[in-house]
Amino acid sequence: MKKLLPTSTAGSLPKPSWLAEPEKLWSPWKLDGADLTNGKLDALRVTLQEQSNAGIDIVSDGEQTRQHFVTTFIENLNGVDFEKRETVRIRDRYDASVPTVVGPVSRQKPVFVDDAKFLRQQTDQPIKWALPGPMTMVDTLYDAHYKSRKKLAWEFSKALNEEAKELEAAGVDIIQFDEPAFNVFFEEVNEWGIACLERAIEGLKCETAVHICYGYGIKANTDWKKTLGSEWRQYEETFPSLQQSNIDLISLECHNGRVPLEVLELIRGKKVMVGAIDVATNTIETPEEVAETLRNALKYIDADKLYPCTNCGMAPLPREVARGKLNALRAGADIVRKELAA
Ligand SMILES: [Zn+2]
Repeated sequence: MKKLLPTSTAGSLPKPSWLAEPEKLWSPWKLDGADLTNGKLDALRVTLQEQSNAGIDIVSDGEQTRQHFVTTFIENLNGVDFEKRETVRIRDRYDASVPTVVGPVSRQKPVFVDDAKFLRQQTDQPIKWALPGPMTMVDTLYDAHYKSRKKLAWEFSKALNEEAKELEAAGVDIIQFDEPAFNVFFEEVNEWGIACLERAIEGLKCETAVHICYGYGIKANTDWKKTLGSEWRQYEETFPSLQQSNIDLISLECHNGRVPLEVLELIRGKKVMVGAIDVATNTIETPEEVAETLRNALKYIDADKLYPCTNCGMAPLPREVARGKLNALRAGADIVRKELAA
């Protein structure tokens, strides 16, 4: 990006209410068959228009064509039985009924490639595409086959790499892997989590990102955050390894939380997508609040490496709130861009 402080979002945006029930994760589709296929493409047009109207620089699909950021990708893999469900504890935080790995996993067919080609036709702006990270995928399943989180993650990395290469060929500029699990399982991150990410990006020429956050603004996450004390130093555990990794960009939660921003010093040299929008509240930030978070981050990140962003996805928010937050993000970045030019 030549423009200073290019704005983007962490990933998901609210879906239109004619496509899926609003303000809900895993929301069921309201259409089926050809209507659903066409409805998803219309939603892609709408979400792109909303991002463009707000002046967002790096646009995305807003995850309009997927029901959930992890499960939709897994549904397109061999080796996972969605009928056979087990209850497991996700992110060490909440119980969920999840599918079972019953045999070797591999990618059946391209998952998002046609959607990415469609989005590419609609815009000349840079596109970022999010995929689930291998560790977060492992943490959203019951494994009755490999019986090893590390082995299963490695196999997922190969499938992700196939998808990522085709997304790159479709014209995606930045491929992002969502790894909220990186904020929970520190030893595993350092032992094999980052190695799996590097396997997932092998051979890519486009830019690559990892998104690590404290989750959507759902109750299980806000309750968990209350137990984390007055300073959230989780990033400290993984940043030294990430700084050494081949990943280009790191997307982080930096606004309204208790993350001491001096931890950013540990990834100096990396490009950082600084979360300057809180996704756990319907209160829309003022441009000045956004600008203040960006100014604080600039103490640790060179201006040409700072990408203003949201803390996490905005799928569960009301649409007008998400729109307001996109506008606030752009307006806050405008303020700081002017200050840097002065
Ligand atoms: Zn997130």
